[in-house]
Amino acid sequence: MAARGQNISLVFPRVSLLPLGIGSSRKWLCRACMPSPSRTQKIMEGLSSGIEAGGAGGASSYAALKRVDVQWLQMRTQKSVTGPKPEVAVRNTGRCLEIASEPKVYDVIVCGGTLGIFVAAALSLKGFDVAVIEKGKLQGRVQDWNISRKELDELVKSGLLSYEDLQNVVSTEFNPNRCGFKGSLEVWVEDILNLGVSPFKLVEVIKTKFLKMGGVILEGSAVSKLKVFDDAVELLLDNNKTLYSRLVIDAMGNFSPIVQQIRCGQKPDGICLVVGTCARGFQKNSTSDILYSTHPSIPLGESNIQFFWEAFPAGSGPKDRTTYLFSYMDVNPQCPSLEEMLELYWDLLPEYQDVELNDLEILRVLFGIFPTYRSRHEDSLMFSLPFFFFNN
Ligand SMILES: Cc1cc2nc3c(=O)[nH]c(=O)nc-3n(C[C@H](O)[C@H](O)[C@H](O)COP(=O)(O)OP(=O)(O)OC[C@H]3O[C@@H](n4cnc5c(N)ncnc54)[C@H](O)[C@@H]3O)c2cc1C
Repeated sequence: MAARGQNISLVFPRVSLLPLGIGSSRKWLCRACMPSPSRTQKIMEGLSSGIEAGGAGGASSYAALKRVDVQWLQMRTQKSVTGPKPEVAVRNTGRCLEIASEPKVYDVIVCGGTLGIFVAAALSLKGFDVAVIEKGKLQGRVQDWNISRKELDELVKSGLLSYEDLQNVVSTEFNPNRCGFKGSLEVWVEDILNLGVSPFKLVEVIKTKFLKMGGVILEGSAVSKLKVFDDAVELLLDNNKTLYSRLVIDAMGNFSPIVQQIRCGQKPDGICLVVGTCARGFQKNSTSDILYSTHPSIPLGESNIQFFWEAFPAGSGPKDRTTYLFSYMDVNPQCPSLEEMLELYWDLLPEYQDVELNDLEILRVLFGIFPTYRSRHEDSLMFSLPFFFFNN
């Protein structure tokens, strides 16, 4: 099931600018200096391709990295609102069910299946007639999700999972968990984000339960338009199918077309960038870092950036560890690309985890972007539309 990387050699010329004193005025890496192919490209293209899931962090190929980097470049270089406002959800007066082309009306349709399937199953359990629409295949990623036991127990309390189901999806458990700044304050806590769960198995279990309860899943169908009438919502899919529902829940993630409409193509105010790997070969692998900083702000690209680490034992083996380098920043054209951040990650990881890159077998490379927006007046207007919950 899991995507396993080949044991690739990580001996590459360190042609990016190397750290010559943290916090010095020297740029760590300048865009023009990044060699082609980059170290990141060589590493990623040497890995065997695994299952790619539709949800965030579900793709780990170099091509997928470039796709997200193009999206991120457009985001940070756009001026503000560009082009006409996307019209995905529109308000129509009157009623639609009397003249509906399709007699079936769902109580709830959940758009987006990664976390959406959990909401859908919980509503099904309460007796509602529910359908899920998922653009790709409805499956969880291979890479663990980290979560606290308390959060996961909610799924048992709600009746969606049994404790036996939980046993089968929890792949690893570890304590203690650290937060801190190297050389300064360090706080060790217990039971915070200390479980690794297999999203692939967890989503599969919930999906099976949902289907058994009579839930309907439409995979390989993207929602392209929603018309909100007084009595129901008419949903148009990209395969020309039309569905009707009394309530629609948007669970399409950060890049939901409904969120794009609410934001009117607005440039995000902030961004969280994350890069990392799941790799094999860590001798010290019993504790985790929830949030740990090893350096003061570092010059990268044209910006000074404060980086943080996360590190967790991974469920795939005793020496397998997931390590993420992430940062929060204002959005401007000088922000680094994900590939630039990965170049920095390869440079900093050995010191942070006391390992040699050459001693690690990279299983998969991980990355993602999380845009953030300040609230605006228009948002509250959109939220007041009937039949909708919005996820962002
Ligand atoms: C590298 C990385 C590591 C992470 N690690 C963790 C972790 O350890 N623990 C944790 O809790 N979270 C983690 N996250 C956060 C992660 O975003 C969430 O756990 C989870 O993926 C969010 O699920 P979601 O369903 O809200 O959104 P998404 O995962 O973005 O899923 C949205 C779904 O909607 C579908 N969709 C999109 N558009 C349409 C459309 N038009 N029609 C129909 N379907 C559509 C997509 O195909 C997708 O399946 C991580 C994220 C990244 C990037």
